[in-house]
Amino acid sequence: MESLVVVTGLAVTLAGCAGDYPLAGYNPNLSAEVRPGQEEAVDIVWRSQYGQAGQSPPIFWMYEPYLDCDGGKGWLNNGVCWDGMYVHDERPVAFDWTTSGMHVELAWPGWFTRFSETSLAHELCHAAFEDWDHEGPCADTEGTLSVRAKLALEGVPGQK
Ligand SMILES: [Zn+2]
Repeated sequence: MESLVVVTGLAVTLAGCAGDYPLAGYNPNLSAEVRPGQEEAVDIVWRSQYGQAGQSPPIFWMYEPYLDCDGGKGWLNNGVCWDGMYVHDERPVAFDWTTSGMHVELAWPGWFTRFSETSLAHELCHAAFEDWDHEGPCADTEGTLSVRAKLALEGVPGQK
């Protein structure tokens, strides 16, 4: 089994965005569902906002009841509450990766109705620009590329 390397994500607490990702293997609680509107949302972020021509990484969702911290907005991993991660992992048996094995994990609480409420734009920023430490386009501060991409998603409903 390959070991996993982390990568990075947006912790709800904004603590420890990069570091060892302690999950051994893929998380069976993740869903590979393609949500309504997801392809449009990814296209807006990945191609229009980030100018990427290649394929975007696979996206997996964490739903309730596995969202167990910050009022159900994230999931606990190694004591940190995450609402999204960009992760390198071994190839899980249950899913058919089409690219390198890097994938995005995102929380979708039941009351979210829009992709702009998730960390989709943020995690795809890591994938596009490899800004691991949030000092460049993936900084969660006003006016950065990832924040503008998130705003661009506000018109895309995701339904429940
Ligand atoms: Zn991040």
